[in-house]
Parts: sequence; structure tokens; C-alpha cells
Amino acid sequence: MRASTDGWATCAQGHRHWGRAGAAGLLLHRDGEQGPEVLLQHRAGWSHHGGTWGTPGGALHEGEPADVGALREVREELGLSPDDVVLGAVSVDDHGGWSYTTVLARPVRRIDVADLRLDGESDGAAWLPLAGLDQVELHPGLAASLARLRPLLRHAGE
Ligand SMILES: [Zn+2]
Repeated sequence: MRASTDGWATCAQGHRHWGRAGAAGLLLHRDGEQGPEVLLQHRAGWSHHGGTWGTPGGALHEGEPADVGALREVREELGLSPDDVVLGAVSVDDHGGWSYTTVLARPVRRIDVADLRLDGESDGAAWLPLAGLDQVELHPGLAASLARLRPLLRHAGE
């Protein structure tokens, strides 16, 4: 059954967003040789903002907590189980009438990209260094949230 919250929403800033109850994503991070690294998905060409790197996630169901929705989405999109991660800080990007909640998480085991089971929404995934994200094309939602997320990622390991 399709969730009733499937569909486009227009926020107060005039963007179109998928998910009438808002959306959430799981930003997995780990300590790399050159500082924090984040696990991003490369969005399939047909998808909204296809070809960009973004946080795995998607539309929330009615009444669904953001952390539950984020974990559901990474199970669908990457094949990760809730047992694979420990949840951390939460950051909400509220656009007015629509919001995106980023749930930070750390892997509890080594997660290699080759072990992921990607669904059709992405054509790749990678651990990217936080310091190098300005060198790839980011999903506009992630790009807009990055200034707020960076300090959370930097401090998470301390
Ligand atoms: Zn918006």
C-alpha cells in the first residue's frame, strides 16, 4: 500500500519537495585518514536532482518519527539494518511547511560500499571526505544543510 504522504509538497521557500509529511535521511559518518567521511548515494539519473550526491533518505510516512523513517529508507536504498548503526545527533532543516531531518549515525561495523545492496534510486554510493564535498556535485538539500552539519560531524568523534 502506498503511504498517503507520497506526493509533492511546496515549501514556504518555493521549492518542490517529495513527501507531504517531510523527509528524513541518515548521514553515516566515520573517521577517515583526512578527517570525517560520510556515506553518500549518487542519485540515479531519472530521480529528482539525479546525478547529484545526497544523503540516503526519503519521504516520511504519516506520524513516522524521523529516525524511524531514516532507518527504513537506508534499509530500502542501501540494504543496511538498524543493527548496523548507532544513531547520533539530529539536525532539522525547516523550510516552512516542509522540513528535512538529517539523522547522524555511526557504523558499528566496517561498512564497505561493495557490501551495500543499492536499489534503483541510486547508481552508486561512496564514503566521501567531508573536506572534499565542495569538489562534487551535491544534492541542493545537502549543500544547503552542510554548514549546519559540519560542526556536528567534526565534534561527533571527540
Ligand atoms: Zn524547501
